[in-house]
Amino acid sequence: MSLQNPVFIPGPTNMPEVLRKAIDMPTLDHRSAMFADILHPAIDGVKKVLKTETAQIFVFPSTGTGGWETALTNTLSAGDKVLAARNGMFSHRWIDMCQRHGLDVHVIETPWGEGLPADKYEEVLRADTGHTIKAVLATHNETATGVVSDIAAVRAAMDAANHPALLLVDGVSSIGSMNFEMDAWCVDVAVTGSQKGFMLPAGLAIVGFSQKARAAVETAQLHRTFFDIRDMEKGYSVNGFPYTPPVGLLNGLNLACNMLLDEGLDNVFARHRRIASGVRAAVDAWGLELCAAKPEWQSDTVSAIRTPEGFNATHIVTHAAEVYGMAFGTGLGEVAGKVFRIGHLGQLTDALALSGIATAEMVMADLGLDIELGSGVAAAQAVYRHGGNQKKKEAA
Ligand SMILES: *Cc1c(COP(=O)(O)O)cnc(C)c1O
Repeated sequence: MSLQNPVFIPGPTNMPEVLRKAIDMPTLDHRSAMFADILHPAIDGVKKVLKTETAQIFVFPSTGTGGWETALTNTLSAGDKVLAARNGMFSHRWIDMCQRHGLDVHVIETPWGEGLPADKYEEVLRADTGHTIKAVLATHNETATGVVSDIAAVRAAMDAANHPALLLVDGVSSIGSMNFEMDAWCVDVAVTGSQKGFMLPAGLAIVGFSQKARAAVETAQLHRTFFDIRDMEKGYSVNGFPYTPPVGLLNGLNLACNMLLDEGLDNVFARHRRIASGVRAAVDAWGLELCAAKPEWQSDTVSAIRTPEGFNATHIVTHAAEVYGMAFGTGLGEVAGKVFRIGHLGQLTDALALSGIATAEMVMADLGLDIELGSGVAAAQAVYRHGGNQKKKEAA
């Protein structure tokens, strides 16, 4: 017997049974027409999820981190200047990758818990009258702090400064769960992975390249072999890959896109918003605070919850795993020990979210925090009852 709770880590996320079955395939010849029938619909599905008509989609056997590398190495040259804000562990890691590739990063240090400062981006870009900055990096959803940023505002800052740099966006923990508009925001490279909003195992780096980013590939000098999108492009043009494709995962990706599109992206986003609102109501009822410093920065995919001074938040995660068999996320980097995270993205329902909230309460009470059992659950129930506000209105 296997007793399995849902996970509440912000990726990998819970896998729907139908996706697990879709991934489990017999070996098929990846040079046959059967593969084309998996590849092209998967690519078309990703396009719709990214809300783009003009971008080219590339899917590599890798993870989100490989997507970062694909974005950088295909568009930039050693010594190029890039602009990035650091507001958590994931933006930090992308900056670190830039530096290891010999890029010259202008870092806007931003308090962990705040969103990307579009005004500061604009200031730096305005001052760069010689247009030496070649790319602007933006982490849409900082998974370490539960902070979502306004990418449209970053684009507006670039436009206000009349700056031609490319806009590279990490959407690993937002795409497929929160609104992401590649075309409307003029994103040049969008990066995601298979194991978050797409509800699949880790194993795919999924990237979208605008026409402008595609053109930059011809002059970009950073070394790339495995991640060269031109090889991938050639492969796709003859219904294949430049190497052996992960066929089962691509089959899963095709179905995952269909599931998101069948539910309707707006409904998917509304479901994530409602589930997140319930978690936030619980946090409030517990008398605790989110790492996200303002409501506009509160992520609908992950909540990083600050624990009282002097308490090691990591104990919540280890106790939950040991005693209740439930997985929550630890704090990373600067906020290690200060926050624990509830991931609430992907295949989740209101009822599943309640199980996570109820377990978190038991854990915190066990560890001596001043938490009234049932307080967070009741607060979330008030949000979830009757399927949230939308259906409540219909009933009235
Ligand atoms: C998970 C995550 C990544 C890294 O993705 P991997 O698939 O683990 O390589 C990058 N950025 C963000 C925002 C993430 O949440």
